[in-house]
Amino acid sequence: MAEFDVIIIGAGPGGYVAAIRAAQLGLKTACVEARETLGGTCLNVGCIPSKALLNATHQLHEVHENFEKMGLMGAKPTVDWDRMLRYKDDVIAGNTKGIEFLFKKNKVTWLKGWGSIPAPGQVKVGDEVHTAKNIVIATGSEASVLPGITVDEEVIVTSTGALALPKIPKSMVVIGAGVIGLEMGSVYARLGAEVTVVEYLDAITPGMDAEVAKSFQRILQKQGLKFVLGAAVQVVEKTAKGAKVTWKLRKDDSAGEIEADVVLVATGRRPYTAGLGLEALGVEMGPRGTVKTDDHFRTNVPGLYAIGDAIAGPMLAHKAEDEGMAVAEIMAGKYGHVNYGVIPGVVYTTPEVATVGLTEEQLKDQGRAYKVGKFSFMANARAKAVFQGEGFVKMLADKETDRILGCHIIGPGAGDLIHEICVAMEFGAAAQDIALTCHAHPTYSEAVREAALACGDGAIHA
Ligand code: FAD
Repeated sequence: MAEFDVIIIGAGPGGYVAAIRAAQLGLKTACVEARETLGGTCLNVGCIPSKALLNATHQLHEVHENFEKMGLMGAKPTVDWDRMLRYKDDVIAGNTKGIEFLFKKNKVTWLKGWGSIPAPGQVKVGDEVHTAKNIVIATGSEASVLPGITVDEEVIVTSTGALALPKIPKSMVVIGAGVIGLEMGSVYARLGAEVTVVEYLDAITPGMDAEVAKSFQRILQKQGLKFVLGAAVQVVEKTAKGAKVTWKLRKDDSAGEIEADVVLVATGRRPYTAGLGLEALGVEMGPRGTVKTDDHFRTNVPGLYAIGDAIAGPMLAHKAEDEGMAVAEIMAGKYGHVNYGVIPGVVYTTPEVATVGLTEEQLKDQGRAYKVGKFSFMANARAKAVFQGEGFVKMLADKETDRILGCHIIGPGAGDLIHEICVAMEFGAAAQDIALTCHAHPTYSEAVREAALACGDGAIHA
């Protein structure tokens, strides 16, 4: 048994960041993690491995599609799937070991095993009960599978299985056109699989600015992905070939089906709090299995906090990280804050899609007067030079004050470009502030400036 100032349960981006910051602020800190490696869903079976596979398959696509256009001739590489998976595993290992190093450097104690909270101020790991002034639940989330579907992680898989398939499937059905489904669908489409995405709603990437979502769907279709939208999946059953998905179209109840080698169920994630003992503690829960917290991450039990995917808000690693830093500061008696109005969201396909702030649909719903500045990457010299002219920047600003309200980008490097807007929004900037800022030529970020110019007297290159 040991005594700590703070024990954090879960070492994902929320938990490990909270632990490091708490230790940096002088708190005696432990972090409980049941996995063999630190980093949670994100580093082990989420953000990082998916980006490794997206990178490898993007390079493959470049060689096959664009190299000859640039006069780069020669034999085309073929895919050694086992080696590609090893590359992905090496990337994971490099990152998870990095967190282990940071724990040692910052003197965070890693309590290995499953943690539970037998009483306020106590955390049980194995047979040991440790005490802490404060406890943070950072136990993350798990895949949420539609009722009636049995996942075996070989033929009918979640994202975890899709990151480690024994061989490249010839065909794949993805259920759910959210970020995870489209990223993994993209990976396998680039590897030659015939990918069909079946989605309940009438548009892909629910919640995204509709114009961007539409353009994104068109681009993915050009890349070979097929979409069945407005389809309520009825049954997923295993067959001799793989599995069969049956659906009914919501508009007319007509039935459809498709058989594929692999079915990826990507219908969202739900908070994971099993085995913590929250019910016995009387912890108040919120909608969809979330732990209910106030705006200082406090649950209704004194000294018990919660952050990350386990609480309300977008299930994103950087949102969890920001909450991790904020909760550590709050526990150390400082001021911790997360601005939920400026949390970017990125889809790491090619082209990337990135978004921050309000969508045009949200502005209309709020009855706000706004203006739109748009600029196409087709008119961006750098994007054209690298065959990435598809997509655009769409900036939304207040009609009266010109203050930036949101920005939605589909195009090269969108996931990095969006941060110029995040910083601008944190500073309460107007579109004109970006328009008057010199942007280096030739860069993709010139498209952001042109969209800002388009909010005023007009873009130059449009
Ligand atoms: P988690 O990362 O889920 O970590 C929780 C940890 O707690 C786990 O390691 C678990 O083992 C441990 N744990 C749970 N219960 C206990 C217990 N009782 N005792 C001990 N340990 C316990 N987000 C992005 O921002 N960008 C992306 O590109 C992105 N890509 C993704 C791709 C995929 C395929 C998936 C599945 C997710 C992706 N996400 C992405 C989402 C991101 O992974 C999560 O939002 C993030 O990991 C949440 O962090 P967390 O700290 O709340 O929880």
